[in-house]
Amino acid sequence: LFITVEGGEGAGKSTVIGRLEAFLHTYGFEVLSTREPGGIDIAEQIRAVILDTRNTAMDGRTEALLYAAARRQHLVEKVIPALRQGKMVICDRFIDSSLAYQGYARGLGMKDVYEINRFATEDMMPDLTLYLDVDPEIGLSRVHANKEREVNRLDLEKLHFHEKVREGYLQLAAQFAERIVTIDANRTPDEIAGDCYEVLRRKLGQ
Ligand code: C5P
Repeated sequence: LFITVEGGEGAGKSTVIGRLEAFLHTYGFEVLSTREPGGIDIAEQIRAVILDTRNTAMDGRTEALLYAAARRQHLVEKVIPALRQGKMVICDRFIDSSLAYQGYARGLGMKDVYEINRFATEDMMPDLTLYLDVDPEIGLSRVHANKEREVNRLDLEKLHFHEKVREGYLQLAAQFAERIVTIDANRTPDEIAGDCYEVLRRKLGQ
């Protein structure tokens, strides 16, 4: 199975992925957990271009295309070979991140962003997507709690942006209900992981 984990900042994706990996091991599966750009040289180089602070002129569509390019390289070099070897693959972020962040929150349009990603992935979609739905205020406060920092003005602008990201994800979850399962991530790690285990058990027919 190709499983993706999605969510806004502070949703707890990494924690859940660690738990899921252990859970799947207990069922005897070999697991690859990865995240884009996934340590793939070409994808890392593309990601560096996206993140380079010198690239202030980066156009939104350019950024979306670069994300899609990095996604493709990670997919063909790492994800697909692991699936062919019979491994379970858990990926931290995939196409839905582009749809929610670039397509919806940054306003490029989900349909257009979907089209370029469809080209990049040749229509390969996850078998299951766990969307960790967190109230952005809670998510951001978790992130800040880590950094021992007060919420400032910029963070409030960020809050609005993250509300939009969440709206985008919720639309996707409604539209692709057969693939995306929404998990209430405003709770404790144990509760969140418990729900994810239940979804996986059902998917595995256990
Ligand atoms: O996965 P993680 O939360 O570490 O992602 C870091 C940041 O990358 C996110 O907060 C988001 O702002 C950004 N991102 C993005 N567009 C994507 C994927 C990630 O803007 N398609």
